[in-house]
Amino acid sequence: MADTLITLQGVQKTYGLPGNNSAIVLADINLTVKEHEFVAILGPSGSGKSTLLRIIAGLIEPNQGLVSYRNQTGSGFREGIGMVFQSFALFPWLTVLENVKLGLQYKDLSPQSKQNRALEVIDMIGLDGFEGAYPKELSGGMKQRVGLGRALVMEPDVLLMDEPFSALDVLTAENLKRDLLELWTEQRIPTKSIIMVTHGIEEAVYMANRAVVLSRDPARIIADIAINLPHWRDKQSKPFVEVVDKIYSVLTLHQEQHVSYKEEKMKKDIKMPNVRSGALTGFIELLEDVGVKVDLYKLGEQLSLDLEEFLPIVDAASLLEFVRVQAGDIELTAVGIKFAQATVLQRKELFREQILQNVPIIIKITATLRSKSNGRMAEEFFSNILSGQFGEEEALQQLNTAIDWGRYAELFAYDEHSGTVYLEEN
Ligand code: ADP
Ligand code: MG
Repeated sequence: MADTLITLQGVQKTYGLPGNNSAIVLADINLTVKEHEFVAILGPSGSGKSTLLRIIAGLIEPNQGLVSYRNQTGSGFREGIGMVFQSFALFPWLTVLENVKLGLQYKDLSPQSKQNRALEVIDMIGLDGFEGAYPKELSGGMKQRVGLGRALVMEPDVLLMDEPFSALDVLTAENLKRDLLELWTEQRIPTKSIIMVTHGIEEAVYMANRAVVLSRDPARIIADIAINLPHWRDKQSKPFVEVVDKIYSVLTLHQEQHVSYKEEKMKKDIKMPNVRSGALTGFIELLEDVGVKVDLYKLGEQLSLDLEEFLPIVDAASLLEFVRVQAGDIELTAVGIKFAQATVLQRKELFREQILQNVPIIIKITATLRSKSNGRMAEEFFSNILSGQFGEEEALQQLNTAIDWGRYAELFAYDEHSGTVYLEEN
């Protein structure tokens, strides 16, 4: 039987927010990763994927629960685990060789064997001849090869990667994926398992043999899907598309719940997807164009949108009840169809009705402004309240989104000179 490498039991992570508030990011995560597994972790933006990976690496501690590596619990950095970051994280004043050697700084090896191992890895990752180059002389793809090299030179038992390809252009990313997959499938690296965070479903199904899908607010594991397809995989083949479709369905499942559990939705101030009203209206028009019911995955592909860009739009349209999402398909609701066919003015009215019925934050802002005789309130008043719920950065985004939607609906707007939000309805 394959050895168990990583175990997470009842892992919970909470981040503190201004005031005495806190947000649960990860709730009760249970996960076991064994030898020979290549696990892809998928989930909406901000769901906690990076947090989860950092907890596995031992870079941050969970508030509750246990993390073990080869049955050892202990805290702090786990020897045997290597990590590749999205942002490359290279030292600009060090050469390629020196950056790769950094991966060995805590290893008890002679300088000569460190040198030899680093050179071997540089060769393996296709950077032969660039040993003396500095990061600024390298392309993005080459930088990420160095990032990968620094992790591989440690000969990690478990390799963790946080969206390692997302900062690269498509062709460069494809090349690097293929090269890494070759090292892995041909067992040219001693690494026993790989855990990769990604927002590319296709990327996950191309590379991994298991997909773990997270929900959001807080993150729970909502699906654990085996991908039993031999390498190299044909992205056009039926079994490939079926797995992609299945993951798409799971990822869009929470949107179904928005619609069916309206009361649940109104209980707490759920986050608005930070999507401009223009993107939203464009999307609804497009849906009306392409027909009654479409496969979300195909639609995303057709628009060549990343999941990261695409899901929030779907999410927003669903929150406002313009669309219904079910089993990976999306269709316009009656209101959605009406909206698509309406005049500019009617659209604004419909939009106003929908946000006033479905978005708690907008409802509260409107109520506050209506209660004031001058219909105005300092922007800080709202950003303060929202900070307590979402943290400062997200609070500003939420307020921006609310104002964008409010302005489109001619409900309220923002006056830059006085820094106030004011009621626009008459
Ligand atoms: P993902 O990688 O899935 O996009 P993250 O793990 O980066 O998600 O973040 C999950 C949530 O936790 C987000 O809402 C983010 O704003 C919040 N978060 C992340 N790091 C911190 C931190 N150090 N303090 C407070 N909140 C944080
Ligand atoms: Mg992340």
